[in-house]
Amino acid sequence: MKDTILVDTYAQIKHGQNGKFRAGVRSSALDLLSLKHKFFGEEKDLKTPRVQFLYFHHIFKDELKNFERLLEFLSKDHIFISHSEAVYRLINDEIDKPYIAWSSDDGIQNNMLAAQALNTYDASCCFYINPASIGLTDVEQIKIFCQEKLEMPPVAFLDWHEVEILLKQGHEIGNHTYKHDMVSKLTQTQFEEDFLKADAVLTEKCGPIRHFAYTYGKFEHFTKPAFDFVMQNGYESCISASRGCHINGQGKLDNNAVFLRRDQIIADWKLSHIKHFLIKGVQELDYASNFLPNSLV
Ligand SMILES: [Zn+2]
Repeated sequence: MKDTILVDTYAQIKHGQNGKFRAGVRSSALDLLSLKHKFFGEEKDLKTPRVQFLYFHHIFKDELKNFERLLEFLSKDHIFISHSEAVYRLINDEIDKPYIAWSSDDGIQNNMLAAQALNTYDASCCFYINPASIGLTDVEQIKIFCQEKLEMPPVAFLDWHEVEILLKQGHEIGNHTYKHDMVSKLTQTQFEEDFLKADAVLTEKCGPIRHFAYTYGKFEHFTKPAFDFVMQNGYESCISASRGCHINGQGKLDNNAVFLRRDQIIADWKLSHIKHFLIKGVQELDYASNFLPNSLV
């Protein structure tokens, strides 16, 4: 049997992608939208006070330059704050500037590269990890986990020593379920067991855990009882991967009612396309986006 080799560049992932035609159409559409923002001077919208959560899965070595360029661009108009501070500012109605809070899902080993770049801006990131994949070294196990849970080619994961280094650098660790199952496909009892198992391991290794990001990230991948369970267990926030950002302006919020939105970033994307997603988030700012969507209530 051919040995499994871990993927360590984004070029390898792109090379293996299906649907190149669709990607091309999408890219052209985004080019047009980016031109529109430029033409109407909409980039100034990025100076709007808000809390915007941005997340990535990976920063491969061939994405690092782009990621550094993105950080440099964003740092001009934004203040990078930790996940916990972002939640605090939202809950306490203290959103007086444009704030960005970084997070990352899945604990891929090249998160260490991302951290290096973030550290140069004193930007804290919340790394949402699955205890089941941390420290995996068996390439066949990695291959299965990546294929079944992450739908990507096999990649290296962080080990617990690296998680400790991230904490020492001032980053946060969040709960992303124990083994990256889709919450909406579990029974409530299965979810509760998985969540508590992840929380117990993470708490033992990293200290108290305050934030939860459910897997896959669309609203339909989560449930209201699961949300309630997370918040009843003393967590401060629960975050999706649905695009959108946050404003308040109406006083303190009950954090058991707040439900967070995030914008995904792939550092390989053109900067103008990433700008488009951010501008769109500002243009669609809505107080109601601070709460559970109707589909989950
Ligand atoms: Zn994930």
